[in-house]
Amino acid sequence: MKLDGKVALVTGGARGIGKAIAQSLHASGAKVALWGRNVEALQSFARELDPSGATAKGYAVDVGDSERVEAAVEEVVKDFGQLDVLVNNAGITEDGLLIRMKDEQWRKVLDTNLTGAFFLLRAAGKRMLKARAGSIINISSVVGLVGNPGQANYCAAKAGLLGLTKSAAKEFGSRGVRVNAVAPGLIETDMTAKLTEEQKQALVGGLPLGRIGRPEDVAGAVCFLAGDESAYVTGQVLSVDGGMTM
Ligand code: NDP
Repeated sequence: MKLDGKVALVTGGARGIGKAIAQSLHASGAKVALWGRNVEALQSFARELDPSGATAKGYAVDVGDSERVEAAVEEVVKDFGQLDVLVNNAGITEDGLLIRMKDEQWRKVLDTNLTGAFFLLRAAGKRMLKARAGSIINISSVVGLVGNPGQANYCAAKAGLLGLTKSAAKEFGSRGVRVNAVAPGLIETDMTAKLTEEQKQALVGGLPLGRIGRPEDVAGAVCFLAGDESAYVTGQVLSVDGGMTM
C-alpha cells in the first residue's frame, strides 16, 4: 500500500473530517496517532482501527497547549519510531459579528486553529527536518480565501494558516519536507450540523457539483498530499469544495 511503513499524526482524529482522514491513511498502510481532547472517543476509534493497538493509538492533547504538544510528539516517536506525516486538522468555531465579538471568542479560535497548528509544525517539523523527509497538511477552509460574515476570527485563523503553510514550505523544502494546505468547502460534520437544511441547500445548491461535501472527500485529497504521488507538490492550497471558489 502507498503509505506502508509511514507514521501519521492527525489532530482532531476521532471525529468528522479528522476521523475520515485517519481512516484513509490507516487503510493506505500508515500507522496513525490520533490526537484530541476526548480520550474515550480517541481510544474507541483507535481500537476500531486496530484492536491490537500496534498501528493506531489515541493521545489526549489540547493543541493549544505548547508544552503538551512538544511532549506528545516525543511520545508518538517513542511509540512508533518515527513521524512521516502530520495533519493539522483540529479546529473550532465561535461565530459572531465582528463588532460584538468578545476577546475570548477571538483568542479561543486563534489559539486552536492557528497557534495550535504552529505548535505542531514546530515540534513535528524539527523531527522531520532531521529525518530529511515528511509531509505536513494543514486543514484550512475556503472561508480563509474569501472571508465570511460572522466568522472574522475563524477566517483570520484559516487565512493565517495559509501564510504559515507557505512560509513553512519555503523553510522546510530544502530538507525534503513538504507543507501543503487543503481548503474544504461545506462538509457534513458536527461543525456544520447547526446549519438548517435550507441554509445548507442555499450554500451548495448553486455549486458545480451541486452537493454538500463528505469527510471522505477531504480525506482523499489529504492522502494524495501525504504520499509520494505528490512528491513535487509543496506550498499549495488544494480546495475541496465542489467548485465553490473557482
Ligand atoms: P468537528 O467539529 O466535527 O471536529 C473538530 C475536531 O477538532 C474534533 O476531532 C476535536 O476533537 C478537535 N479539536 C477541537 N479543538 C481541539 C483542541 N483544542 N485540541 C485538540 N483537538 C481539538 O469539525 P470538522 O471535522 O468539520 O472540522 C475539521 C477541520 O476541518 C477543522 O479545522 C475545520 O475548521 C475544518 N473545516 C471544516 C469544514 C466543514 O464544513 N465541516 C469546512 C472547512 C474547514 P476533540 O473533541 O477530541 O477535542
